[in-house]
Amino acid sequence: GAATSKPAAANDPRSDLSSILRDLEVEPQGKPSLLLVVLGHVDAGKSTLMGRLVAELGVVDSKEVRRRAHQATQIGKGSFGWAWLMDERPEERERGVTIDIAKRTFETEARQITILDAPGHRDFVTNAISGISQADAALLVVDGSSGGFESGFDVRGKISGQTREHAQLAKGIGIDQLAVVVTKLDKHAAGAERLAEIRGKLDPFLKSCGFKDGRIRWLCASGTTGDNVVAKPPGGSALSWFEGPTVVEAIDAFEMVEHKRDAPLRVPVFSSAGAKQGGGAGQVIVTGRLATGCVRVGSQVSVMPGSLDTTVKSISRNGHKDAGFALAGDAVELTLGLDEEASCVSVGSVVCGPSDGIRAVERIKAKIATLELETPFTLGQSLVVHIHAARAPAKVTKLLVLHDPKTGEDVKKRPRLLKSYQTATVEITMSDKVCVEKYEDFASLGRLVLRLGGRTVGVGKVVKVYHT
Ligand code: GDP
Repeated sequence: GAATSKPAAANDPRSDLSSILRDLEVEPQGKPSLLLVVLGHVDAGKSTLMGRLVAELGVVDSKEVRRRAHQATQIGKGSFGWAWLMDERPEERERGVTIDIAKRTFETEARQITILDAPGHRDFVTNAISGISQADAALLVVDGSSGGFESGFDVRGKISGQTREHAQLAKGIGIDQLAVVVTKLDKHAAGAERLAEIRGKLDPFLKSCGFKDGRIRWLCASGTTGDNVVAKPPGGSALSWFEGPTVVEAIDAFEMVEHKRDAPLRVPVFSSAGAKQGGGAGQVIVTGRLATGCVRVGSQVSVMPGSLDTTVKSISRNGHKDAGFALAGDAVELTLGLDEEASCVSVGSVVCGPSDGIRAVERIKAKIATLELETPFTLGQSLVVHIHAARAPAKVTKLLVLHDPKTGEDVKKRPRLLKSYQTATVEITMSDKVCVEKYEDFASLGRLVLRLGGRTVGVGKVVKVYHT
């Protein structure tokens, strides 16, 4: 099989692809891989829904389900139920919140799905951003209970619910297909009317974010009863009135996104674990998605920034351990031969080929769109820039051109200010070096989010990278 065939000449990353393609002729690739990010306000029911999906589609075995349920009851949080399946680390269990993006894989009839579960807590938007930057499509989970939708959507003073922020982020960072899953209608006396009411309010907002008509699907489901998650709700059940797609059908209906296999390797690192976190001595495990290129066991790679050269020791691909290789689009865990002390591998690092690696830079030119601003941006405006999983304090060092937000045409050179909902080309200087690419070369490494005081104030694309 692919895992046992000989590695390519270790120094020639280009030969990896042709050897992988030869292996694939012998042993065809599995189902295509789709990465999903799960968005929505805190308590909307994201973990419950994903826990149910994973449990019903067999990735977590029933013993694990019982073990987690028992643990939950013991600490007196039994009501969290299915959500426990998604919570990984002990400290998360104790807090009853998912801190990191829990990565999970399951298979539908047509696809291998990896879920990037973005937690809804306001402070955790950072995690949502790195999830969205790697995802092909989003599930937007909305609480359908009385007052639930409103608390996630309405604007009170300057605070608006995360349903809004997540939708704006998703579109801004480049996701253009969405399924809205309305939960908790199993407890609602008039579910059909409530679904229509929520759609009537949310749909115009999603359109205003830029989502196109045919790219939004509407459905309801209950993670707690399991209705309409994998199977259609049975007659007599709380959601039996609903005739639209199940969650799984909506996932299978997402369009597959193409990923360039014959481009240089880029794996933005989502999380990393050294020896102390179970990576084992002399190795580091990094989790991420192959944005482009391919890699196989034995490939020489370089981790940027820092140009740390190493070898890939093993690959877990789309949840399958001991794969021989991985291709663009795959969700992976790569075991790299590195001493933890010697390594500066972290969230925001990028694994590349040894010769055509990404560069880490401080200065970029970007085309940005502002969201709601409390005060207009002027020259020198401080911000936090997020690019893939990397993040750095930054300043706007040039306001170059103001564009017409509809046509993109230049409206004004050197504007003095940038106000809410404007589009402009600016120069941004970061206080640390960040691995970034031009958007047109590597889309997922060239999208940025601007945050200020814990709020998202803009999104954009990198149009130029300054190497000095
Ligand atoms: P998250 O913060 O979005 O991950 O939300 P959770 O999955 O933790 O759910 C929050 C609460 O809502 C929990 O108490 C769940 O049991 C409950 N819940 C989630 N989905 C449903 C649903 O479809 N129906 C009902 N009745 N309760 C739900």
